[in-house]
Amino acid sequence: MVAIFSFTGGAIFGSFLNMLLWRLPKGLSINGRSRCRACDAVIAWYDLIPVLSFFLLQGRCRQCKHAIHHRYPLVEFACGFIVASFFSIANPTPAVGLVSVIGLLILLALFFFDLFYFLLPDAILIPAIIGFIIYALAGPERGAAFLLSGLFLAAFFAILYLMSRGSQLGFGDVKLAGLLGLMFGYPWGALIVIVGTWIGGLAAVIMLAKGASRKKELPFGSFLALAAIIFIIFNDQFIRIFATYF
Ligand SMILES: [Zn+2]
Repeated sequence: MVAIFSFTGGAIFGSFLNMLLWRLPKGLSINGRSRCRACDAVIAWYDLIPVLSFFLLQGRCRQCKHAIHHRYPLVEFACGFIVASFFSIANPTPAVGLVSVIGLLILLALFFFDLFYFLLPDAILIPAIIGFIIYALAGPERGAAFLLSGLFLAAFFAILYLMSRGSQLGFGDVKLAGLLGLMFGYPWGALIVIVGTWIGGLAAVIMLAKGASRKKELPFGSFLALAAIIFIIFNDQFIRIFATYF
């Protein structure tokens, strides 16, 4: 039951995220009804059901039969799946669950923005950073350590950013690293950055093996966000492994 509800909630967020992914990079208003990209017809509410509508419509606009990009059901399914996995695996208390879900949704949004556009929007990052600064100061079992962790990771990435003159990572990655420090504190924030870098390295090796040119850009922010998402879902397991070996 929990899985069904949390999947539905996640998929509805995915539908909202699809709208942001389409409108934010173009500077369009996020108000107003969804329209078909091809014929501009307003899409009826019953054709906007996450994941399902795509299949009921056989992947085409009801009016003009133009193909709907498979990205739409994919993002909706991924968000539903991640949120459902979190509630099924982590089994959190309501208070922890709420903050974790907010964190998960922010990270999912950043993951897809960087993946599709090589972009970590300030419209998401800045409110998230401010929110987690307030939570670090006011939240239970938080405190200055979370602020310092965020500051340290952001500073570390700022140095890398300056040394590479922005060729290896963008300034969005600096802000994201700071956000991860604020969200997870020490040592978890730093550990997530290391795991994210490994995932990125692995992706680079796979791409090179497949014959991609060395110059091809990689969405580094997506790898950091992915590592953090995995950490939130398997929080208990990570802490247990860490306590056993360190
Ligand atoms: Zn259409």
